[in-house]
Amino acid sequence: MREILLHDTQSGELRPLVPRDPGRVGIYACGPTVYSRIHIGNARPFVVFSLLRRFLRHEGLEVSLVINVTDVNDKIYDAARAQGRDSAELAERMTALYREDTDGLGLGRPDHEPLASETIGPIIDYIQTLIDRGHAYAVEGDVYFRVRSDTGYGRLSHRRLENMDQGEGDPDSALLERKEDRLDFALWKAHKEGEDTSWEAPWGAGRPGWHIECSAMAEQLLGVGFDIHGGGSDLIFPHHENEAAQTRAARGAELAGIWMHNGMIQFTGEKMAKSVGNIALLHEILESHGPETVLMYIVSGHYRQPLAFSEEELRDAGRRVDRIRDALARLAAGGPSPEDMRPLRDAFFDALARDFNTPAALASLFDWVREANRRGSGVGDGDLREMLDVLGLGSLAALEAHGDVGGTDPEAAALLRQRETARAARDFQTADRIREELLARGWEIRDGPDGPGLFPLPGP
Ligand SMILES: [Zn+2]
Repeated sequence: MREILLHDTQSGELRPLVPRDPGRVGIYACGPTVYSRIHIGNARPFVVFSLLRRFLRHEGLEVSLVINVTDVNDKIYDAARAQGRDSAELAERMTALYREDTDGLGLGRPDHEPLASETIGPIIDYIQTLIDRGHAYAVEGDVYFRVRSDTGYGRLSHRRLENMDQGEGDPDSALLERKEDRLDFALWKAHKEGEDTSWEAPWGAGRPGWHIECSAMAEQLLGVGFDIHGGGSDLIFPHHENEAAQTRAARGAELAGIWMHNGMIQFTGEKMAKSVGNIALLHEILESHGPETVLMYIVSGHYRQPLAFSEEELRDAGRRVDRIRDALARLAAGGPSPEDMRPLRDAFFDALARDFNTPAALASLFDWVREANRRGSGVGDGDLREMLDVLGLGSLAALEAHGDVGGTDPEAAALLRQRETARAARDFQTADRIREELLARGWEIRDGPDGPGLFPLPGP
């Protein structure tokens, strides 16, 4: 097996992935706070860590990928209040839409998708442990983490204590007076006027802070000391620094072995955030460009780098997808690829093994395509399918496997994709209906090892 190296934010180095349990990798990535529909920036970590799971499975590892849903949070209360809606109902609706939108990527679901609202018991136990061990204190129904009690604090984000701001309101607020130290952050927030949900706790009714939610959800599913903790680079401080501190303080252990952070998606040079106003919603981009183009766009940049977003970038990605489609149409479907082209295929996987370098891997994939094109028809597409599958682009090969379905009957190709989306969402009724529709158009779906393919029905 290849050695797999990943960049660890804490050590600042590439580190070999040595699973805590031999052969089994646990990944926790921070998911969305569900107060509105997700944009392309929220989709990036979903894609990066879903594809990392594919690659690790390709390398023979068992992988458990956890991406949580933050459904109890200040932003949700604020959005619900502004819209005159019930906060729990808003969070539930946006969770359903988040699943629908990410299903459209065709990457399947994470292995676990815990909700903060369903982890309240373990969160309360966790906070109690922190109080019992002297790392937290209750004041007027709030509970705060005593940052200076954790000697490792700042290790992940490489910040000095003097330069830290927990981002919990303005420095003159009453909140600051309740804290022993301005560095301390909230583990539990007492119920406030205008908040329509709260849970009972030994310190009074209220709700958990964001950071403790993730420490508890991760530990529930993966234990402590799991292999990879991921998320956007905007979460390094304070969110991940605080998660790490909570685990050290409560369990005397590090939460994760490797901290992996993806760069931000930038909209004309500015970090894409709700406040920027230029919002590229994932479902709109999927509708206008299709999942293959969206995935191609995301893998065309190294996950750690910022990625510029524009229509032009998407068009470039679409052209790269077309080049692959064209190549597949000329290749011998399902056939083994020439042995002497194997180094190009190996270079693809070696690039992924070296800090999941998808742009370098893509370059090797296109070297392979160029060489196949040069040799003319008859080259088997086996290696190309294997590479595409790891990038979540296996559907390109499946659709082309039996004649150029995308070219001769693009509607059938689109229907097949919709069926895959429905099946991923476990909407089997819709999936069955689409199968019937395809039969009526003269196409039969057969599920093969490379995914489903369309086969023409014999003529009358
Ligand atoms: Zn988190």
